[in-house]
Amino acid sequence: MDREKIVEKYDVVIIGGGASGLTAGIYCGRARLNTLVLEESLVGGIATNTWEIENYPGFPESISGTGLMNLFYQQAKKFGVKFKLTNVKNVDFSGDVKIVETFRNRYEAKAVIICNGSKPRLTNAENEQQYIGKGIAFCATCDAASCTGEEVLVIGSGDAAIEEGMFLTKFASKVKVSIIHDEGIMDCNAIAKSAALANPKMEFLHNTVVERFEGGEEMNRVILKNLKTGALVPVDCFRCFLFIGYIPNTSLYKGIIDMSGKGYILTNENMETNVHGVFAAGDVREKFLRQVATCVGDAATAGVMAEKYIAESEIFENIIMNGNGIAYIYDASDAEHREFLEEIEKLEAEYDEYCCHKVDTYKSQGLAKRLCKTGHCPSVVIIKNGKIVKVIDEEHLSKKNIEENL
Ligand SMILES: Cc1cc2nc3c(=O)[nH]c(=O)nc-3n(C[C@H](O)[C@H](O)[C@H](O)COP(=O)(O)OP(=O)(O)OC[C@H]3O[C@@H](n4cnc5c(N)ncnc54)[C@H](O)[C@@H]3O)c2cc1C
Repeated sequence: MDREKIVEKYDVVIIGGGASGLTAGIYCGRARLNTLVLEESLVGGIATNTWEIENYPGFPESISGTGLMNLFYQQAKKFGVKFKLTNVKNVDFSGDVKIVETFRNRYEAKAVIICNGSKPRLTNAENEQQYIGKGIAFCATCDAASCTGEEVLVIGSGDAAIEEGMFLTKFASKVKVSIIHDEGIMDCNAIAKSAALANPKMEFLHNTVVERFEGGEEMNRVILKNLKTGALVPVDCFRCFLFIGYIPNTSLYKGIIDMSGKGYILTNENMETNVHGVFAAGDVREKFLRQVATCVGDAATAGVMAEKYIAESEIFENIIMNGNGIAYIYDASDAEHREFLEEIEKLEAEYDEYCCHKVDTYKSQGLAKRLCKTGHCPSVVIIKNGKIVKVIDEEHLSKKNIEENL
């Protein structure tokens, strides 16, 4: 991380410009934070791969993925969010200033929101790498028109596979679908399944997986293997669309941010990761449902939490850790905690060289966790000359004990 780079400072840097990154941008921009979105390929992300989004609220007539993402983008721009098309290569989240590096730049931020999303999973069958982009495709929206009048093969049976397969039938003469499961079983939702079964252009090859891809310069045949019989099933096709799931784009964060066994980022419900000041939102997170609507919810929370984190950092550095202080960490909704406030107020009157700070955890845990690791309350933290010298926990909490440590 020591090459000479152009340094730029921001309040918030958002990595990834898909539905999540754009929404986080809208929230941060609207909160008047100096916000930068870094996107390595296409603003709008993976949603631009889908022709029709029927389930995003507010669009009863449905909208294309590109159309929806363009609206998100316009809204983020309206709030002053900056965009750069560049690949994030490195991050250093070890200090209070978060560092995000691209080839040429070093961005310093008070908070970072990770919105890297995920990339399509491959089959790992023979010749796959050779034919990616030369017959093997991942985006029906992008490639459907070129399949007009041709036979195509779709691999997978989840929502994306079946819904995009249905879309392909508007162009292709036939859409064969390779499904790993037994006859009648598909991973998609029931509505998509019944629509697909009723579509005369769709044909289903159950109990099959890809054995290898074949062709010349371009792929033109896929050899499937029947898992029950072991028989090889050659399928001549103009394109083969892979819709067999996604892999999170999280290699940048290995060893830095806690992840699930599958490599998705772990957050709490406030989108906080294990590193203070680093949040994650959208498909990159470990969660149940990966859809635009859930990305938007995540990213709204992450944006608001980033704003809160930055505001708390300023209070923490410039007010609480400035000189001598007694910080009372408490829950204002708890009667006993409120009762002890009286003792704190007495100390405030008696020791005017100490500033008293009432840190209410009911509103936010952030400041409490900065003062003591657990953020447990009630407790008192004593600060002398801008340094924490003592944490008095609930068990030892008394006016006398606090005074002995002043
Ligand atoms: C075929 C298909 C159909 C779908 N249909 C629907 C639907 O009908 N309804 C619905 O609600 N959802 C649908 N979804 C799901 C929805 O599109 C996603 O949940 C959502 O778009 C994910 O947004 P995201 O911002 O979290 O991730 P992404 O959109 O994946 O965005 C992540 C961005 O980060 C960028 N990035 C990654 N690494 C880096 C790096 N190192 N540096 C810089 N940038 C980086 C990527 O280029 C990408 O643009 C569909 C998805 C697919 C694939």
